[in-house]
Amino acid sequence: FTNTILYFTVENPDMKVINQLTLAKSSAEKASRAKTEFLSSMSHEIRTPLNAVIGFSECIKSAPTLEDAQEDANEIVKASNTLLELVNGIIDFSKIEDGNLEVQEVSYKPREVFSSLAKLVTPKMNEKKLSFSLFISKNVPETLFGDKENIRKIVTNLLTNAYKYTEKGSVLFSINAENKTDKTKLVISVKDTGHGIKQENIEGIFKSFERLEEDKDGVTSGTGLGLAITKQLVNTMKGKIDVDSVYGEGSTFTVEIEQKIEQLADANIQDITIEYTQSTQQPIQEQ
Ligand code: ADP
Repeated sequence: FTNTILYFTVENPDMKVINQLTLAKSSAEKASRAKTEFLSSMSHEIRTPLNAVIGFSECIKSAPTLEDAQEDANEIVKASNTLLELVNGIIDFSKIEDGNLEVQEVSYKPREVFSSLAKLVTPKMNEKKLSFSLFISKNVPETLFGDKENIRKIVTNLLTNAYKYTEKGSVLFSINAENKTDKTKLVISVKDTGHGIKQENIEGIFKSFERLEEDKDGVTSGTGLGLAITKQLVNTMKGKIDVDSVYGEGSTFTVEIEQKIEQLADANIQDITIEYTQSTQQPIQEQ
């Protein structure tokens, strides 16, 4: 009897604390390992463009002609931009990790935000002669209250990837909304006819510095941080991101995020499709 009492008062609580400590220790070790891995991949990724900057600067010093020097300078600009993209990505990434992400809720007009994002990437789509269109459902409210800046970052990352990894065909950017009393679920999707992703690689693309084998050729500049940041942003906003992809045919990235409704769309607003083509930089058809 005494033993039983002792077990429940002294031994058992101790065992529970020990178990909790062991769990906490193993998760702290895991986090620290992840940080070390992140740090070492980061240093490795930074070294490549930095070496290019040093190498091409040396070339300029001994360039035989002005044209040669200009070509080298172009390479330096390219490598510096990659470096800047990396550093910006790392800053964003660590801000999110530290929980220092600024969530700035503001009132905004989603139709204007999404069409301006589409206009921003149109020149890039045109460069590759991709057909590019934007669909906005009539359900998308007129004014929302929420984190406009993070939504812009998420969409920019997805659209940038769509043109980076699509050589021919089309990109469709669409926004649907499911309205409840005071909130709406925005369903944002970017569908491309690019090279697609093998099923076994899908999980990996959301990890930092993870790039698919075929994209490591140096032709397409990338940091492997875009989707890791995108996923973190979506998680911070309590949303979800999914990808549906057929290797060799294309991918669809879909993000679902809730935002507060400030004002619903006008009753006479219709679904709208804006088509951007390679021949003009402006929308040619608005329905
Ligand atoms: P990166 O800077 O390399 O584009 P991301 O984190 O944005 O980094 O993407 C990780 C990897 O996922 C890319 O390197 C590419 O291999 C793959 N990927 C991302 N988006 C697409 C897409 N739309 N189609 C095919 N592959 C993609």
